[in-house]
Amino acid sequence: MAKTRSSISPHVLIFPVPAQGHINCMLKLAEILCLSGINVTFVNTQQNHSRQLSFGNLHSRFRQFPGFCFETVPDGLSDDQLHSAGCHRPEDLVNDSFNRIQNIIAPGFRELLTSDRFRSDARGPVSCIIADGMYGFAIDVAEELGIPSISFRTVSACCTWICFCTQKLVENGDIPFKEEDMDRPIRSVPEMESFLRCRDLPSYYRDKEVNRRNLDLISTETLYSIKATAHILNTFDDIEAPILSHLRSYCPNLYTIGPLNALLNTLRCSTTTNSSSSSLPVSSNASLYAEDRSCMTWLDGQPEKSVVYVSFGSIATVSPEQWLEIWYGLINSSHRFLWARRPDSLLIEDGDDSQIHAELVEATKERGYTVDWAPQEEVLNHPAVGGFFTHCGWNSTLESMVAGVPMVCWPHLADQQINSRYVSEVWKIGMNMKDDFNRVTVEKLIREMMVDKRDELMKSTMKVAEMARRSVSREGSSYRNYEALLEFIRKSC
Ligand code: UDP
Repeated sequence: MAKTRSSISPHVLIFPVPAQGHINCMLKLAEILCLSGINVTFVNTQQNHSRQLSFGNLHSRFRQFPGFCFETVPDGLSDDQLHSAGCHRPEDLVNDSFNRIQNIIAPGFRELLTSDRFRSDARGPVSCIIADGMYGFAIDVAEELGIPSISFRTVSACCTWICFCTQKLVENGDIPFKEEDMDRPIRSVPEMESFLRCRDLPSYYRDKEVNRRNLDLISTETLYSIKATAHILNTFDDIEAPILSHLRSYCPNLYTIGPLNALLNTLRCSTTTNSSSSSLPVSSNASLYAEDRSCMTWLDGQPEKSVVYVSFGSIATVSPEQWLEIWYGLINSSHRFLWARRPDSLLIEDGDDSQIHAELVEATKERGYTVDWAPQEEVLNHPAVGGFFTHCGWNSTLESMVAGVPMVCWPHLADQQINSRYVSEVWKIGMNMKDDFNRVTVEKLIREMMVDKRDELMKSTMKVAEMARRSVSREGSSYRNYEALLEFIRKSC
């Protein structure tokens, strides 16, 4: 007899935007659901899938779950097109991704879901779609199939809330804003009236041609996402409660289940040893780059809390001049550092990197170490790491919070500006670098983080780390919200 929906386990399909930060947290959610006995299909775009297979540990990580499988949809990319060294400004990369999402990825996804592909699947038909918050088309597909859709926005709640206030910002004449208005206060975003400046708004609110289309798309997708049956945010109630109550007025069925790296650790611990969630997270990322683990051995030889870890994520780029300023700032601070320098992060217009000075290379050998790509979560949890010089991507920010590592934030684009304002002004777990940075500022802020303001910074950093860990313990808000999400998913099949 054919299986009916009510006689089988739920089958959740998860579909992230094809970028490292989005994939990492959605794969964590996939593993968490698998650990709870849910069948999961994870949809990757083709090129990212082959990159993850060559660099990551995906096979060993998911082999243990018979109910898990990958599917791919076309992305229209040739093998050498994505992340070729020094070719892309991040805004262009984002623009290009939006084009491919609309023209290639969305039709491919619709075809996958409406084809016969899942009719003969032993796990039963897909009973719920969890799609990136930027994928309004997935909500429509779910509606056509008569199944619930869950919209998962992978940025912070504070950024999501600003996106919901876009119309108000436009009506007030606050956005788009010009370079000279960076420090102008913004009063039209509830909960942020006392500290928000133009420079803290998401980068696509800046008055630049390249941003216009991105801004339109983001505000349209934000309003459209309200149509989803439920919503997920990778955050926890203790740090974003006031914002979350505003968001719940738009999206009442909102599950805050973060930090997902820590929740995954709780689930892993409870399914293997039944022990508590207090042990530190192990690396669980699906890297689009080859991880260089030699830095772990280097860290083993460094004194406790002595090293500044430096990384600007998977999209941000730096000019050769900025690269040198960072390097001089690090060397002049006299602190040890581990720098994950993604090769395609150096924006070289003419292919010339001869500005990199021999004296810096020599000084780096004495107290620094560089890799192309690091096992970041493990690095942040290593006892030798005492600070993080970061672009403040949301995953990096959460990983740093959970590890109890204070930050110097140098935001580049998207939600990074508002994240870094919250890090410095609200949570007080780091300092925020303005746009016009140089070697003197880098040196000063690193010294403040490691020495001059260390005690006060560590007090709040440890408090936030404790709240983060508590939220994913069995009595914590994120754990309870996750149980409610499971209930919702089970009811859907
Ligand atoms: N990451 C990593 N190794 C690196 C740099 C980054 O594993 O050398 C991971 C990091 O742990 C995080 C993700 O890449 O999970 C970056 O996501 P985030 O949201 O911080 O920034 P984005 O890359 O989206 O700008």
